[in-house]
Amino acid sequence: MRKINKLTFSIFIQLKMRHEYFKSYLHRLSENNLNKCYKICNARQTLKHLLLNCRHYKAEQIKLKKKAQLKNTDTILTLFIIKIKRIATLKYLKNT
Ligand SMILES: [Zn+2]
Repeated sequence: MRKINKLTFSIFIQLKMRHEYFKSYLHRLSENNLNKCYKICNARQTLKHLLLNCRHYKAEQIKLKKKAQLKNTDTILTLFIIKIKRIATLKYLKNT
């Protein structure tokens, strides 16, 4: 496995443990009503959105889906558990 820096690994673990630091999670915890994604992306910022659907990361998402051999039947959790998918997810996080 390629060398992953501490920050990338920390983000991976936080996402895996669902200690999500993105806006939809903060929205649930507080009165933060800014749960929309960045700039022109008006989608709700969720784990699935950031990993698979956000328009800001389209090129990296294509690589992630290909390297993780992601199927429609896979859940988002498989990206953190199955080895080949986990490696692809770490690389995605490193590059985004
Ligand atoms: Zn987005």
